[in-house]
Amino acid sequence: MSKLYISMYHYVRDLKHSRYPEIKGLDVSLFRQQIEFMKEHFSIVTMEQVIDAVERKINLPENALLLTFDDGYADNYTFVLPILEEFGVQGSFFIPGKTFTTHQLLDVNKVHYILASADVFELVEDLKNEMDRYRGLEFDYAPTEELFHQYAVPNRFDIKETIFVKRMLQTVLPEKVRNMISSKLFEKYVGVTEEQLAYELYLTEDQIRTMKRHGMFIGVHGYDHYWLGNLEPEQMKKDISMALDTLDEFIDRKHWVMNYPYGSYNAEVLDYIKEQGACLGFTTDVRIADLQHDSPLELPRLDCNDYPPKSERYKELIE
Ligand SMILES: [Zn+2]
Repeated sequence: MSKLYISMYHYVRDLKHSRYPEIKGLDVSLFRQQIEFMKEHFSIVTMEQVIDAVERKINLPENALLLTFDDGYADNYTFVLPILEEFGVQGSFFIPGKTFTTHQLLDVNKVHYILASADVFELVEDLKNEMDRYRGLEFDYAPTEELFHQYAVPNRFDIKETIFVKRMLQTVLPEKVRNMISSKLFEKYVGVTEEQLAYELYLTEDQIRTMKRHGMFIGVHGYDHYWLGNLEPEQMKKDISMALDTLDEFIDRKHWVMNYPYGSYNAEVLDYIKEQGACLGFTTDVRIADLQHDSPLELPRLDCNDYPPKSERYKELIE
């Protein structure tokens, strides 16, 4: 069999009892139900089995499914690891190098927590005002309404206002402007310092080590969680090589696995990671992977919201 379902997770936690119940995550009780469902209807495989399937043409079991967790959150250790152990299955955890080495908050998380703490319409107004304030002061970017028109496009998870905030503060505005605006909005809405949140949000190096010792797979998710496909080649290479250096203890440098932040990559990224020893790469394309036809460095994934108890969407994707 060459078909592989790959399920993607981000925050998994006891949402009701957490400090930010509005954060877009999967509640741990639903996660448990989902793993029960998957144990019954799929064969949950390890990353090593997938690598063997690609490199040595060893068949995967029927209905093979791989569990992937992005961004290196401490909730993966608190809530996910015990359940995976209980069911005797492996998870693959993709950890941005910056999170556990510098304890600085990534842009992606700054924006998630601002969105979880603010009214999105009020937030859009604040953001637009800030964009107008910095434009022309040594920074240049298109008029705010033009950017709104271009980027405020809803997707299957978010309304257009939410997407606008994410795009502006995660990639579109110049990095310095993004940082200044998101720090200001973070301070206004979130209620803790960025440093406090970074320390409670991310896995520590010891936790990563423990997860690996317990049979979990550790993979690469960039250093600074940039949109790699939008970077200049030199900056892209620097980010990936820093990611490899920080994760050196946890990965096989001749056989590591990439997961593109935001699913963003291009031909130069593919060439570079191949040259650096990547053997698999995970995107955010929404399909069931077919190892015979898909490029091993561009494997599609489904979201955890595509499986019960959240939805039955995984069924619609079977050709
Ligand atoms: Zn990510």
